[in-house]
Amino acid sequence: MDFTLTDEQRMFYESVQKFARKELAGGAAERAISHQFPWDVAEKCAQAGLLGITVPEKDGGVGGTLVDAILAIQAVAEACPRSGDIVQAGNFGPIRTFSEFATEEQKARFLPGLLAGKELISLGMTEPDAGSAVTELATSVTEDGDDLIINGSKIFGTHSSEARLFLVYVRFGSGVDGIGSVLVEKGTPGLTVGKSSRFMNGEEWSPLFLDNCRIPRKNLLLGRGGFKRQIAGFNIERLGNSARAVAVGRHAFNLAREHAMTRKQFGRPLCEFQGLQWKFADMAVRLEGAQLLLMRAAVSAGNGLPSAQETAMAKLACNEAGYFAANEAVQIMGGLGFSEESTAQYCLRRTRGWMIAGGSIEILKNRIAEGVFERRFSQRAESRPVAS
Ligand SMILES: Cc1cc2nc3c(=O)[nH]c(=O)nc-3n(C[C@H](O)[C@H](O)[C@H](O)COP(=O)(O)OP(=O)(O)OC[C@H]3O[C@@H](n4cnc5c(N)ncnc54)[C@H](O)[C@@H]3O)c2cc1C
Repeated sequence: MDFTLTDEQRMFYESVQKFARKELAGGAAERAISHQFPWDVAEKCAQAGLLGITVPEKDGGVGGTLVDAILAIQAVAEACPRSGDIVQAGNFGPIRTFSEFATEEQKARFLPGLLAGKELISLGMTEPDAGSAVTELATSVTEDGDDLIINGSKIFGTHSSEARLFLVYVRFGSGVDGIGSVLVEKGTPGLTVGKSSRFMNGEEWSPLFLDNCRIPRKNLLLGRGGFKRQIAGFNIERLGNSARAVAVGRHAFNLAREHAMTRKQFGRPLCEFQGLQWKFADMAVRLEGAQLLLMRAAVSAGNGLPSAQETAMAKLACNEAGYFAANEAVQIMGGLGFSEESTAQYCLRRTRGWMIAGGSIEILKNRIAEGVFERRFSQRAESRPVAS
């Protein structure tokens, strides 16, 4: 399989790199410690054509490929890791699911604000009692004439504190086939966006409480049976997550490399100590290997949905490589790496979260093992052998 970038892809990558170095690298350290969503960056990225890269042109997007979106995240995150999050949010996750499954009317209502970087959409999937076991979600929907009535609660949604729109997974009936999704707008009576809390990476999230929240039927995204289609689309989100993890790891790697070449101790630059050279060798091999798995999953997906197995392998490798590189970079940079003066500490905090979000590394390993043995291993208690 050929992972070499075409001339067009290379030119695109270099042009985004140039934009990011000029427009975003400057404020990277401040952004990394700010808890505010950087709306200015979102608008700049929108103007540069970096949001909605895979959204068709007829819907207001750029009409590019999955590989283009991955390259854009990586070129931006290498200059400013926090800005990489903005490119991710404008191309992957709920915005991608939305643009894949929304009706023309829904797209016309919501995509312009989202693609202009003026509004955010947040995914409401996780619940207090449904994390890794997401199909146990209990938020219910009942039909009442032309309306749908939602009851339940959601936690941990990225951008839930700032979003205008929530893509909420709901239950129409029992079992996996009973799960679908709806669109709930901020300000809808019955929806309370609770007191915000913060992840270790600095991002805010708010719990959502839906108490007889009545929405019009035109806000239905995918009805009964929609879950399997949405989860297939979620593999695209996982590749976005993977792209960011490896790029943020590379950002930290580059900082540490520069530091090791200039910082002297015992009269020698740090890069002359073998103990540190081996760290760089390990980081480089892990980052390069993870990048190859990512490109394999993206290239073989073409314009379709990525393979679940290749995606799980890519996300696991990228999450672990990104975190490994960021952690080693902090160590190599000593007190400076651990301080807010440097973005290395942000990379460490950021990459740590991705080993939990979007399919934790343990859940990914479960998925990969299923591929290895070509059979499903149910994780549910009732299917385990009962001890005699
Ligand atoms: C940075 C970040 C962003 C997030 N963004 C969103 C978002 O936008 N929208 C949203 O809905 N949710 C979001 N989440 C929530 C995320 O999806 C959940 O945290 C994740 O699914 C894990 O669920 P949990 O936290 O309840 O942990 P649990 O499911 O309780 O798991 C706890 C631990 O047990 C392990 N574990 C669980 N089951 C198994 C098993 N069968 N085999 C082996 N190990 C297992 C897990 O891997 C984990 O290490 C986000 C989380 C983070 C950290």
